[in-house]
Amino acid sequence: MTAILSNLQATRVAVAQAAQAAQRGDGEVHLLAVSKTFPAQAVREAYQAGQRAFGENYVQEALDKIDALRDLPLEWHFIGPIQSNKTRVIAENFSWVHGVDRLKIAERLSAQRPVHLPPLNICLQVNVSGEDSKSGVTPSEVEALAVQAAQLPNLKLRGLMAIPAPAADPAVQRLPFAQMRALLQQLNSRGLQLDTLSMGMSHDYTAAIAEGATIVRIGTAIFGVRAKAQV
Ligand SMILES: *Cc1c(COP(=O)(O)O)cnc(C)c1O
Repeated sequence: MTAILSNLQATRVAVAQAAQAAQRGDGEVHLLAVSKTFPAQAVREAYQAGQRAFGENYVQEALDKIDALRDLPLEWHFIGPIQSNKTRVIAENFSWVHGVDRLKIAERLSAQRPVHLPPLNICLQVNVSGEDSKSGVTPSEVEALAVQAAQLPNLKLRGLMAIPAPAADPAVQRLPFAQMRALLQQLNSRGLQLDTLSMGMSHDYTAAIAEGATIVRIGTAIFGVRAKAQV
């Protein structure tokens, strides 16, 4: 058995156990395999182990892999920071974009989404308390952005995404995830129909699932530790 196959199997079991512990059906939590910095061959191995959805952070690296893997029916998610001069290739090559945090980016993605493709699924990135990156709208800004993004014709606003600051204590990990769950509920109570909470990485996905994550984005636990120089 390859390392990727056994890591994937172990991760699936852990995700299902976390879902069960939270009294959620395991079909409610989707595993996004984050393949950034790993070669196309690693993605191919994960595909052979039954994985279909992959997350990438860097546009050029992702395009090379997408090209090398055209023979496989994969679903690509862009999860990195989005520069406005990259929106066209992102709109053309991905099914999902997780880190939208400005109306201008959403408008460009919608305008540049090819008409022969289904609407691009997007999540709005929220800078929940304690988040260490500067990306994301504040919780108080998210509703205005959601209302506008939901109206763009070639996008499908699916929900919210966050990358909280790392914490070792599971009880502390849960706080920003609980805040995300409440935000999603608030948006849905205002008439939006959002079904996605993209939150939880290798070190905190159990806490994220306990607070309602529907997509966990997991790299290290599946593919191994990334080279130090890279994020
Ligand atoms: C790298 C990355 C991940 C995966 O992180 P791991 O700790 O390797 O599981 C998830 N989400 C985003 C946005 C990332 O950049």
